[in-house]
Parts: sequence; C-alpha cells; structure tokens
Amino acid sequence: MKPGIELAGKHVLVVGLARTGIATALFCAARGAHVTATEERSESQIAETAAKLRAAGIALELGGHQSPTFVLQDLIVPSPGVPLMMPALASARAIGIPVWSEMELAWRFLRGRLVCITGSNGKTTTTSLVGQILETAGLPVQVAGNIGTPLISRVDVSSDAGFTVVEASSFQLESIAAFRPDIAVLLNLTPDHLDRHGSFEEYSRAKARIFENQAEGDAAVLNADDAVAPQYAPSGPQVFWFSRQRRVDSGCFLRGDEIVFRRDGSETILFHRADIGLRGDHNVENVLAAAAAATLAGVEPAAIAEGVRSFAGVEHRIEFVAAISGVEYFNDSKATNVDATLKALDAFSGNLLVILGGKDKGSDYAILRTGLRQHARMVLLIGAAAGKIEAQLGGVVPVERAGTMERAVELAAEHARPGDTVLLAPACASFDQFESYEHRGRVFKQLVRGLAERHAADEPARRA
Ligand code: ADP
Repeated sequence: MKPGIELAGKHVLVVGLARTGIATALFCAARGAHVTATEERSESQIAETAAKLRAAGIALELGGHQSPTFVLQDLIVPSPGVPLMMPALASARAIGIPVWSEMELAWRFLRGRLVCITGSNGKTTTTSLVGQILETAGLPVQVAGNIGTPLISRVDVSSDAGFTVVEASSFQLESIAAFRPDIAVLLNLTPDHLDRHGSFEEYSRAKARIFENQAEGDAAVLNADDAVAPQYAPSGPQVFWFSRQRRVDSGCFLRGDEIVFRRDGSETILFHRADIGLRGDHNVENVLAAAAAATLAGVEPAAIAEGVRSFAGVEHRIEFVAAISGVEYFNDSKATNVDATLKALDAFSGNLLVILGGKDKGSDYAILRTGLRQHARMVLLIGAAAGKIEAQLGGVVPVERAGTMERAVELAAEHARPGDTVLLAPACASFDQFESYEHRGRVFKQLVRGLAERHAADEPARRA
C-alpha cells in the first residue's frame, strides 16, 4: 500500500514555476490545498502563468523567495532546477517540514505499475524504448517524467491495469521520501551535474535512492559492466543485472549475437543484436536494460523483439542529419557531459570532425583524449568552455576555435573529406549560446540542411 497524502486543507509551497512547478501547483490546488507558489522571475516575466495560477486560487510570491513563507508550510515541493541547499529550503527542512520532489508527490496518487529509469546517460533512450515495447505488447502505458511531461500531469489518466514508465533525474530522486517503483533501473553512474551535487559520491547516492524503498516483490535492474553502479545494488528488492560483457545469473546479457534473459537457471533468447537499429555499444546497454525491464513487466519475447526492431531512436541522440559530398553529419546535442561524448566517439570507427563546447559543468575534458586520438581527425570548439577544453585536450588532435555553431559547421564542411563524419557531441551544457540542448541540436540540423541545399543547388554547375 502506498502511504498517500491528504492535500485538502494543507499548506503547500511550490518553488519554481516552470512546467513542473505549474503542474504541481494546479494539482495541489485542485485537491483542496492552500497553495503558494514562489518564483524568482517577476510578475511581468510570467504574466500569463501568474494569471492562470491566481484564477485557480493560488497565492503568488514573485520576484524572489521569501524565507518566512517557507517555514509556514505543511509541504514544500521544489522544482527540479531549485538547489536543495537554498537557505530558505534548508531552514524549512531543519524544522521538519517535508520537502518532496514532484515525483514523490505524484507517485502517491499514481495508479498502476511504475517502471522508473535513472542513470547518468541513456535515460531518455531507455525510457522511450520501454514505452515502445510495452505499447507493442498491447499494454496500457504512458511515458512521463524528465523525458517531457511531468509525472504529476499523468496522475489523472493513470489506471490500475496500466504501466507508467518514468525517467527520473538525480534532482528528482534526491528529494523522495517513500517513492517506490515496481521496477527500478539504474543504467550507469558517471560524473555529471557536479556543479550542483558537490561530489560524485553525493550525486551517485541521489541516483541510487531509486531503490531505497523497494521491497520484496519489486525488481531492481543494474548495469553489471558499470564501474560504480554495482556497489549500489540494494538488498530489499530482487536484483537483476544487464551486461554486454558477460553472462549474469539473473537478468539480461549479450552472448555472441544473442540477447538472452536468464532467471532461476533458465534462459530465453529474446532477440539478436542485428535487431538493434541504434548505433554504438552504449545503445546495446540501453536495449539490454529495456529488455530486462520489459521482461520483468511480463512482456513476451516476441513483443520485446518487435519493439526493439521498430525503435528508431530519439531526436538529438546520435541522430543522422544528412550526407553531403560523401560526408555524414550526426547530431548528438544531448551529449551534455564527457561520458556521453566518449560513447558517441566510440560509436564511429574513425575520421570524425567533432564539435565540442558550450557551458562548462565542472567537467574534466582530459578524459576525452584517448577517444579523440582514436576516432577524430579534428575538433572544432564553440562556446564559453572553449579555452578550458583546448587546454585540457593537450593537443592530441588539431583544434580550431570556431566560436559559434554557424562557423563550426562551415569549418567542418571545409575540412571534411569524403568518408569523414561530422559529429556534434559537445560534452557541455548549451545555455551559454542556446536555450536548451534541443535548440542547439535544431540549429545544428538547420545549418547542415542549409549546407545540403546550397550543395544541391551548386551541383549542376559543378557537373557542367
Ligand atoms: P539521458 O536522458 O540520460 O540524458 P539520452 O538517452 O538522452 O540519456 O542520451 C544522452 C546522451 O548520452 C546522448 O548523447 C547519447 O548518445 C548518450 N548515451 C545514451 N545512452 C548512453 C549510455 N548507456 N552510456 C553512455 N552514454 C549514453
């Protein structure tokens, strides 16, 4: 049984009014809570949202957070972007006021079974794939969380017979209380968001909280090949593994060309490696994790195979854009950390021109040296982190400072030879030059398509 929570008559403070905060405030107000919402931006910057929330009876404190309000609440729900160390939140916590992520709150009302996926990289890909497999199997399924729609927006459409597949970030997991997925997947642990979490250990512990409340009857799925994740294997639920490198006793693994699920000593061949349309070994790991989760959710091998075969990947994740004069262009704008970039480099055999840079998150770019030496002919740098990256790469490949994405694509096209690949996998956040990684990816794709059009227009002239 879930602990639930009665919201009627409770004082609830929602901190931060982006998509998740707005949905949370409206959700609580609709259930009879006295809701206050606070936001750093001013009234004029969020006029439309402010009007909508006021119409729902929500009190607003805009243009900054007022500490006295925090200590008067029964519950505080900070948005994922709000640092938990913020003094007003810390003082509320110190006097015992619960501080929950929206995911914790949503889970208490959610119906049906929950598959939750976290990790440093591969969450969106794996979450989408699990969603696709469950849908292929004809199960009622909805996909939510960090991937797009806040979980709280899906509560009212959840059903007892259905599944919700939720992508969870470390920010959402660091403020859970009783959150307990039926199936929890930890894909991998590599340094990310250290600017916010302080240390790798703290970040890893936040992610591993996905298993914290699981008990008998629940399933935990972990990556046996990961250097760090296995140490967070929980003792409450039944533990399953996935591995690209070796047989596991319980879980999913790659054996030659076969993807095998093993449990209680018996093995089932689910599908074959050739069924996986995505590039790179890291995607084999994501597929193994998804196949394990789907098997544990009760899906038959044939539907898993069909779901995997029909999965074309997710936008901005090693996404093919165009081939121009024998040069292929790929958009991996979602590579916002060093590990994701390394995986992207490994997904190609060589001859890469790599666009790196953006807003630094306290990363160590020296980790990219070996991958670049093996796979890249050249690096083009954009954004604020260019100087740090160039210094840390230590001259392992020729580097050019392009500054902007426009210039980077131009330079890439100039330097690339037939057979080369131009890869945007920046290893940084995007916010210095773009609104988001999606925006960065779209700009890159537009530039490449512009290049393709100009090239096509020039073609007759070149032939003549
Ligand atoms: P997330 O939602 O965790 O950010 P995505 O599926 O959106 O994960 O992929 C993010 C980035 O990480 C992409 O650049 C992708 O190529 C890379 N990536 C995907 N899966 C993995 C993995 N298992 N290990 C490392 N990198 C990965």
